[in-house]
Amino acid sequence: MNTQPTNPKREWSLKDFEIGKPLGRGKFGRVYLAREVQSKYIVALKIIFKEQIEKYRIHHQLRREMEIQTSLHHPNVLRLYGWFHDSERIFLILEYAHRGELYRELRKNGYLSENQAATYIASLTRALAYCHEKHVIHRDIKPENLLLDHKGRLKIADFGWSVQSRSKRHTMCGTLDYLAPEMIENKAHDYAVDNWTLGVLCYEFLYGFPPFEAESQGDTFRRIMKVDLSFPPTPIVSAEAKSLISRLLVKDSSKRLSLQKIIEHPWIVKNADPYNQEDMVPEPVSQEDDEGDA
Ligand code: ATP
Ligand code: MG
Repeated sequence: MNTQPTNPKREWSLKDFEIGKPLGRGKFGRVYLAREVQSKYIVALKIIFKEQIEKYRIHHQLRREMEIQTSLHHPNVLRLYGWFHDSERIFLILEYAHRGELYRELRKNGYLSENQAATYIASLTRALAYCHEKHVIHRDIKPENLLLDHKGRLKIADFGWSVQSRSKRHTMCGTLDYLAPEMIENKAHDYAVDNWTLGVLCYEFLYGFPPFEAESQGDTFRRIMKVDLSFPPTPIVSAEAKSLISRLLVKDSSKRLSLQKIIEHPWIVKNADPYNQEDMVPEPVSQEDDEGDA
């Protein structure tokens, strides 16, 4: 079914790959399109400089998280096929997500149709249920870390250094928008942080901006802590979608809707493309698809 480029046990080196165009830049390295010479399999090669790893002291974190991502096999989790290194760099052999960041699609369209949003939320929920079963909490789910493959299927990326990059982002310049109240307060947290984030994303997919957006981090912080949630009059969003969002953005983490209940929620059942995880091509997102402006 899945023609893998790689036998995971194999030792890889840069000689096995032809490097193509750059796909993007991250905090710790660069990502290139690449092709494995023998199988001609297309992958994304992420190059991380060891100097950076040493500077930020994330060596153990990176290794642990790479092992986690290698062990995750789900249609909505970006595969990490393997890795290798030379004297200066670490190379991650990643599944190639042809359509890039969901974030870009969201920004281009403004907001998504209810069908598209529900399909993404269902994919994400299934992927998170799978991760939680394996005792993995992502904790850094946000549109930039969600990629789309050539068929528009959602792929969670960046298990890598979520914890590390998150803490850095907070102290430096980043956004709090996707964080659950218990994480902001640095309280003990569990799997339910990902359920909160699903509520934030569902809102952002449907309205085009996250629910607690504010001018300053302090204001976002206060809005999250109060769960200061309101639904703008436009775009028009169904009552069922709002009900799902309201049942996820709940301060008491034990009262948030479970992943199973999200999958069974009427809005998901009615709107999510059931073939999304199968080998079928979902409709490309376009403005005409939007139901919200009806
Ligand atoms: P980091 O993950 O190192 O903290 P980051 O999240 O900012 O940093 P990367 O994950 O390295 O960045 O990726 C940078 C960009 O490269 C992504 O935003 C995306 O546009 C592109 N990219 C990364 N991985 C892939 C992939 N597997 N397929 C296609 N594009 C990718
Ligand atoms: Mg990333």
